[in-house]
Amino acid sequence: FARLSTSTSKSTIRRGSEIDVGQTLQAIRGMNDILPDDADLWEQFETLIRDWLRAYGYRPIRMPLVEPTALFKRAIGEVTDIVEKEMYSFEDGQEHLTLRPEGTASCVRAVLEHNLLYDGPKKLWYMGPMFRHERPQKGRYRQFHQVGIEALGLAGPDIDAEQILMCARLWDDLGLQGIKLDINSLGELPERENHKKALVTYFHAHQESLDADSQRRLQTNPLRILDSKNPALQALIEQAPKLMDYLGETSLKHFDGVQAVLKNAGVLARVNQRLVRGLDYYNLTVFEWVTDQLGAQGTVCAGGRYDGLTAQLGGKSSPACGFAMGIERLLALWVEQGYQAEKNPPDVYLVHQGDNAQGEAFKIAEQLRDAALSVQMHCGGGSFKSQMKRADASGAGVAVIIGDDEVAAGQVSVKPLRNHGVQRRVGSDDAAVTVNELMLESDI
Ligand code: ATP
Ligand code: MG
Repeated sequence: FARLSTSTSKSTIRRGSEIDVGQTLQAIRGMNDILPDDADLWEQFETLIRDWLRAYGYRPIRMPLVEPTALFKRAIGEVTDIVEKEMYSFEDGQEHLTLRPEGTASCVRAVLEHNLLYDGPKKLWYMGPMFRHERPQKGRYRQFHQVGIEALGLAGPDIDAEQILMCARLWDDLGLQGIKLDINSLGELPERENHKKALVTYFHAHQESLDADSQRRLQTNPLRILDSKNPALQALIEQAPKLMDYLGETSLKHFDGVQAVLKNAGVLARVNQRLVRGLDYYNLTVFEWVTDQLGAQGTVCAGGRYDGLTAQLGGKSSPACGFAMGIERLLALWVEQGYQAEKNPPDVYLVHQGDNAQGEAFKIAEQLRDAALSVQMHCGGGSFKSQMKRADASGAGVAVIIGDDEVAAGQVSVKPLRNHGVQRRVGSDDAAVTVNELMLESDI
């Protein structure tokens, strides 16, 4: 890996591929473990996401995590932050490969490679890790996760608008408040070229006021100057020629079409003429959903139209638009606004003691699972008392207890754990029914 960072903390020492025995190992900076309590939250989010996408007719697609480096150079653009400095690239024999920094390029490659558009438009989604070598901070990681949505083969403003509306619905489904929508139109290439000429003339005239980064961008990608966060440049940028003034009738009509649908649906959008996006493949509609509750990393979702990309990647030209959401940022906001992951304890904790009892316990556990109950079988032996402690700690609603007495009688004991209900002894065939009864009584 060209840029894989190795932790430099004292306790983690790597010598070549050898790792000192006895030294603790740590994850790579900016690449996070998602521990069980958090992973529960992720799963609940993912379930919601799947339902939401199905409700809009999107179908799943899964692409490799590694692609030829050339794909991202061609799709995202050589002079972008991602390609210039954020990619994890490495050689594999003769091949130049890169861990995907985003999903659109891979998705479009897959669509073209498998000719998925042969029978009409496609609405696709994917979810998974992306890799960018950025400075890790809150809301910005080196391995992060996106849900990406791509609609290919549809040219009208209706699909752009629907994608924006579906975001609004997701915020509702998640109970998220205060996420604001910025939209803009980047027009078409000739319009951008004309605007660019005017911009270059303008910034040349003010060259002495530009910082080093913007001076460089003036040579390579002048539009990106508009994206500068340098406070000293804001006034200059504010006065710069506006792309909107260079858009032709068709582009303006498309933009009006998007806004009309949003207005009709009651979704507020702010036209932000400075929204240019950091990837080169966009045209016409671009948008971002932003919150002010996450500090500097407030963009939770971003996307737009990229009609030129299929041709740019060597395929037949077809219109397309899509967006990606940052899952870490959305989850942080979800928690910030008070959402707590639902706990998901087992229905039953199965306590057993004695060799005969263990054999029976394995059978009963499967019988309960046949009845759609979730069962945590006690493993590792121990006294009844210590097993009952574990049962309590598991959060299970009911303990099913099997000792030698029960085995001899062909019975099990069933004990409610979350109220003061009494323990019962029932025939082992009635275990599932009894568990269900007790759960109903305890309102679990
Ligand atoms: P930013 O301006 O924050 O760097 P971006 O324009 O590079 O964002 P996109 O490529 O549009 O981001 O990715 C879509 C979404 O993915 C972002 O809006 C954000 O929510 C999320 N995202 C992007 N980069 C990261 C990262 N390094 N860590 C966490 N989330 C990220
Ligand atoms: Mg970025």
